[in-house]
Formats: sequence, structure tokens, C-alpha cells
Amino acid sequence: MFDTHCHLDLLSARGIGVEAAVKQAENCGVQHIIVPGIDASNWSTIANYAKQYSSVEWAIGIHPMFVTPESLAEIDLMQAKLESGADCIAIGECGLDFFHGRDNQVLQTEVLIAQLKLAQRFELPVLLHVRKAHQELIKLLKQYPLSRGGVVHGFSGSYEQGMDFVRLGFSLGIGGTITYQRANKTRNAVACLPLEALVLETDAPDMPLFGYQGQPNQPKMVRDVLACCVTLRQESEQTITQKMTENATKLFNLIGR
Ligand SMILES: [Zn+2]
Repeated sequence: MFDTHCHLDLLSARGIGVEAAVKQAENCGVQHIIVPGIDASNWSTIANYAKQYSSVEWAIGIHPMFVTPESLAEIDLMQAKLESGADCIAIGECGLDFFHGRDNQVLQTEVLIAQLKLAQRFELPVLLHVRKAHQELIKLLKQYPLSRGGVVHGFSGSYEQGMDFVRLGFSLGIGGTITYQRANKTRNAVACLPLEALVLETDAPDMPLFGYQGQPNQPKMVRDVLACCVTLRQESEQTITQKMTENATKLFNLIGR
């Protein structure tokens, strides 16, 4: 199993040791944990996790909710790090988030486009974050096509919304959302979206699974997300496990790692 989206660097503030979380995940069968960048302030911390733990990989990026006027200088720094051979395996998380309004829509868009261009130039997949910006993101992904695609993380949309991304060559990050009965639309979508397009994630310490509300989420919980996928879909547990692992292995080019 893969946890394709896990904020290991935010676990300790919630009382969970990084080492313990990684070891427990490994013991539950998690082979790889991908830790997304938030902005320049967390890049070296998460790059160090990747050095320290063989199951951990990191991505370099600026999260749309952390976009500020300084982000443009951070884009230059990101480019310099990529040029000097940073060992990150993706760009992200990046994207658009208009949940709290569109005051900085122009800046968010500019910072995203810069990251999409870097992803294409350095042939890396992207980890995408999108809230209240489905159409805008689709439009940008058409305008700036990516040969390696990426993951739309924390997928919580409908079948049609999911297929909009799948048709553009993107995968969907499936997390704790589907463990809630009330998430009907997304549960139905996950039941019928092509298995080739699905990867697992936790978004730990956020997005706790049903039954764990109020507790920090952890990477070992991908096991439970997978179990929920199995109840929703037609294929066997073995097929789903194999395929979702293979999807992520190929996408992030971690064959043999
Ligand atoms: Zn995230």
C-alpha cells in the first residue's frame, strides 16, 4: 500500500511521533509514504524525513492556502532546488482553494501555473489540492498539459467530476471521506471510477476516518481506506490492493524502491 498524501511534519504538533507513525504504517503494509510540501518553510524538514526513512518520499510545492506575495520568490528557490537535483518525487501540493473566498485568486493562479510549468520542465507528477475551484483547475490543466500527470488529492467529488480529471490523465487520491455513509456522491463515484485511476491516501493528520473523528489521522490508516474501497467496488480485495499499489508505483516512478 501507498499513502500518497501524508503530512508527517504536522503529526508531532498533534502528539504523534514521526518515527512511530512511519514504523506503524510499515508494519501495516505501507511501503511508501509521500509527504507534500506546504511552502519553503517545510521543505528541508520533509526532505530529511525522506533521507531518514526508506519508505518516505517528499514533494516540493506551495499549498494554495499558504500562497502569499512571497510565494513568487519561493518559486525561484524551488526552481533552483530542482536544477541542483533535489531528490523530490513530485511537485506539490499545489492547486486552487477558493473555500474562503477569491481575494487572492490571481496570485493563487499565478503560483499554480509556475508550479505546473516546473512539473513539466522537470518531468515530475503533481499533487493537486482543489476546493471550490473544479472548473478553474480543469481549465488550467488543459492549458498546461503535464506528461506525467499527477494526483488530485482528497477526492470528494462526483463521478463526473472525477472523470473530468481522469480524462486528462490524472489519478484520484482516495482517503477517509469514503468511510462516511453521508458521503454518498463520492462513495458512488469510487464504486465506478476506473480502478486504474485510483490511489490511496490519508492526508494525515487531517481527514480522520469515520469512527476516529477528533483524533489525528495517521498513515497506517490507509489500510482502513483500502478496506472501505473493497466494500464499495466489485473487484476482489487482492485485485484492488495490487492495482492501487501498481498505480502509485508507476505514477511516482518508484519501481524497485
Ligand atoms: Zn495536504
